[in-house]
Amino acid sequence: MRNALAYMLITSLVLFFLNIYSAGTTRQMMFQAKHASQQDKLQLVVSSFSGVDSLTKEMAEQVMNVLGEMNVTRILITDAQSRVLYDSSQTRNAAGRIVLFEEVVQALQGMDVFHCIYSSGALISSGAMPVMLRDKPAGCVYITEYDSDQGQIIANLELNFLRYSLILLIAIILCSIVFSLTGSRRMQKILRSMRMVREGEYSHKIQMRGNDELTTIANEFNKLTDRLQQSEAAQRQFVSDASHELKTPLASIKLLTDSILQNDMDAGTMREFVSDIGNEADRLTRMAQKLLRLSRAEDTQLQQQEHELVDVGEKVSSVFRLLVPLADSMNVELTGSLARACTVLSIEDDIYQIIFNLVENGIKYNRSGGSVHVTVGHTEEEVQLTVADTGVGIPPDAVGHIFERFYRVDKARSRQAGGSGLGLSIVHELVVRNYGTIEVDSKELSGTCFTVRFPYFDLGKEEDDAQV
Ligand code: ADP
Repeated sequence: MRNALAYMLITSLVLFFLNIYSAGTTRQMMFQAKHASQQDKLQLVVSSFSGVDSLTKEMAEQVMNVLGEMNVTRILITDAQSRVLYDSSQTRNAAGRIVLFEEVVQALQGMDVFHCIYSSGALISSGAMPVMLRDKPAGCVYITEYDSDQGQIIANLELNFLRYSLILLIAIILCSIVFSLTGSRRMQKILRSMRMVREGEYSHKIQMRGNDELTTIANEFNKLTDRLQQSEAAQRQFVSDASHELKTPLASIKLLTDSILQNDMDAGTMREFVSDIGNEADRLTRMAQKLLRLSRAEDTQLQQQEHELVDVGEKVSSVFRLLVPLADSMNVELTGSLARACTVLSIEDDIYQIIFNLVENGIKYNRSGGSVHVTVGHTEEEVQLTVADTGVGIPPDAVGHIFERFYRVDKARSRQAGGSGLGLSIVHELVVRNYGTIEVDSKELSGTCFTVRFPYFDLGKEEDDAQV
């Protein structure tokens, strides 16, 4: 309604000023036309006295007789002392009297005078012109006109303007009310939907036709609820997956403790059972750590933490130092081709974690006597990290799922290797939040190669390959 009132106010003001302007212009045009016609009449009378010696009553009457009817309300001819020599008015004849009309006084000072007003539906005009004899005003001619025909024209024009303006105003008021009502109805619909979604009804969609701003808001809102629905489903899935994953080691612990309590076992077997309980507890700890890491990787506030220059090659060396014992225990060879100064603007821990998870997987899912080869290099735009192994590979139908949480190709093998199905989801989250991309190329039974790319931050150093 506020918008509607604003439209009405603006329109009324515009129409008001348009009316004033058009009325003023019309009157001005009429006044100018009247001025011109009155000048012609005055000129005609004044020029009739050219060549005479002096202005007398007889002469004035003679001239006016010759000129005849002039279609004016009143015409006066005066001498230089404002005394009326001729007066066309029969009812208020002023012949012989002194007149002190402003126009007469000014004309006797040598000026051409014209005044015009529009009053009571008539155009009332008066004008005077001096009669010059020997370069001096010897008298003047004064004309006054009361023109109701022209006044009627002005009155009709103004009335028409006003009438059309009122019709326009009413039309605009009606349109404003209709638009405001439909606009507010649609707004109410959006608000109602927002409240429903706030109450948790994420599947609710706003049905809105048209292509205005409100439709855009409704479409954006629908997309938002879609995202909410998806993220809620993902969250539910995550909680159910996580609880399922936690259930297995907990069930093992329960089984082992029950066995210890119920059976009368020898010290050696008991030690074995307790050690199994310890292993399950370790698995739980690792899973809890990975869950924490995953939630930190998704934390948008942490994403804004300050970035620093990280040398990817250096991080590979640190990871190697930590994973050599694991590789040795599994008889897997770790090699690398690391170019110097492969710097990226990133968070050091993220880069470390990405490399660690990929290399650890390369070792875990390998065969005895196999190898993991890491390459780091850069082009002008990007730093490229590849982790290639000669391991078991990933079946083609599983490649699309490996970045999903808790996904494992071979559950038994992953469990045996201490996996939880979270390592690659963490890698994916970290790569994305560091503006990178990750690709995987795998052949079953012959090996897997992960390629990660980050934007390159040039330090201007020379590239120098080094073998580790
Ligand atoms: P996990 O903790 O089980 O290793 P990941 O998320 O790291 O979980 O990996 C998901 C699954 O992808 C693994 O269970 C494994 O089956 C498969 N995978 C990951 N990396 C490799 C690799 N280098 N070679 C073969 N399979 C792999």
